[in-house]
Amino acid sequence: MNRKKYLLPVSGLALIACGNEVRERPNIIYAFPDQFRCQSLGFWNDEEYSQYAGWKADPVTTPNLDGFADESLILSRAVSTCPLSSPYRGMFLTGMYPERNGVTLNCMALRPESTLNPEAVCISDVLAENGYSCGYIGKLHAETPMKNDPANPGHYVSDRTPEWDAYTPPERRHGFSYWYSYGTFDVHKNPHYWDTDGVRHDPHEYSVKHETDKAIEFLRNENGERNPDAPFFLVVAYNPPHSPYESLDDCMEEDYALYRDMDYSELYVRPNADTTLSKAPAARYYFANVTGVDREFGRLLDELESLGLEKNTIVVFTSDHGETMCSQGTLDPKNSIYSESFNVPFIIRYPDRIRHRVDSILLGTTDIMPTMLALAGLEEKIPASAEGRNLAPVFLENGKKCDVPDAALYIRNLDGEKDADGMVRGIFPEARGVKTERYTMEIAITRDREIRRVLIFDDWNDPYQMNNIPYRENQELFASLCSKLQEKLEEADDIWYREGILEHIVPETGK
Ligand code: CA
Repeated sequence: MNRKKYLLPVSGLALIACGNEVRERPNIIYAFPDQFRCQSLGFWNDEEYSQYAGWKADPVTTPNLDGFADESLILSRAVSTCPLSSPYRGMFLTGMYPERNGVTLNCMALRPESTLNPEAVCISDVLAENGYSCGYIGKLHAETPMKNDPANPGHYVSDRTPEWDAYTPPERRHGFSYWYSYGTFDVHKNPHYWDTDGVRHDPHEYSVKHETDKAIEFLRNENGERNPDAPFFLVVAYNPPHSPYESLDDCMEEDYALYRDMDYSELYVRPNADTTLSKAPAARYYFANVTGVDREFGRLLDELESLGLEKNTIVVFTSDHGETMCSQGTLDPKNSIYSESFNVPFIIRYPDRIRHRVDSILLGTTDIMPTMLALAGLEEKIPASAEGRNLAPVFLENGKKCDVPDAALYIRNLDGEKDADGMVRGIFPEARGVKTERYTMEIAITRDREIRRVLIFDDWNDPYQMNNIPYRENQELFASLCSKLQEKLEEADDIWYREGILEHIVPETGK
């Protein structure tokens, strides 16, 4: 077995043996705006990339992401397994499915059970234990709000009812020694943060710009944000282009100007979009924030380069889920299997190690933690609790064996019953689905556990998912997708598997 040897020199510099070459362990920057859909990347309309997409990209201006993509591995079919803020973050951090990491629903005070298990081993726990300086900037939203406001102990951090925002005390930071974060708060030009010492900051400026400034301070180590002799892991969790997207209070005017004069026929290029929906004006502000994120992400990359750190830094640009933006007739931006919600950007640059290309790997959210740890040379430190796959060998094309997923699981949970105090207890596992190389299928159930709706799309011939293939008339296809779904449910030890839900509603599955 070709075990790598890890050298831990007295200087503290973590070295990693790669073949005959000994190099420093890579730094990692993991940038993920919220609700940034895969279709809002301008490069997909370029000839080099459009052949892999099969759909038109939004008319967005993203020059920095386009240039970054030209140097990166781009996943065309990465998904957010449970496309909601909190469940995504729980899975990204732990590599575990929601039922094990604790984050089953979007975190807020009326859902006290949905919170990141303090005992769960996070990617940052492993990296910190192996010499990394870890920093978290931006939106966390992975914990139920607690009455632990550092300025006013015994109270929530605001008097909003129900409370969504949260302060995360040091003992719940999972190895992140630099902290500049908050729970959830959606005022893009008036954000706030709690720092490493629990001091609150209200910078009164566009959050994406402010968080990039803080990330640049971290890179420069201006105020001792990190150990200069250690590799770093920096998470930058921007909130835009998350809603609200209704006025110039929600984005920068210079970015809005790019879209201001475009009419709906120019803004909405997807034939499945309904511009009669009340949400239609949102596209201009949404795209403005896409461009705002692009500009600031570009500034971060420029700083990395000017510090001479770009060669040995893995940079990931991704998102927690997408945004339907008037497609599929829904006002709900996320929490659905439609590709606008489920499909996320995943662009990873690792100079000289990962070759530039587009790949259709069906990366799910639980795969991220083990894959990133392996890319950092810590394959042997991937905790047994991680349930996703290590896809680093596919990324690196290094000939090591790797079990490439042939399908991706989809999860949608809704609130369980409420107790006498109005607190949500448990979950209602409303829908499960699967995406294969060609098809997307979702099965939703009623609370009585009968089929409520089945969606089946042929993504090859119907990339905008406009024709639901009737499952009753296509039994063979339905049966094969159910069998694939059951396999994924078993692999995830999902409640649908443990309680035999799929076998109950589609009895053929169990035979
Ligand atoms: Ca989100």
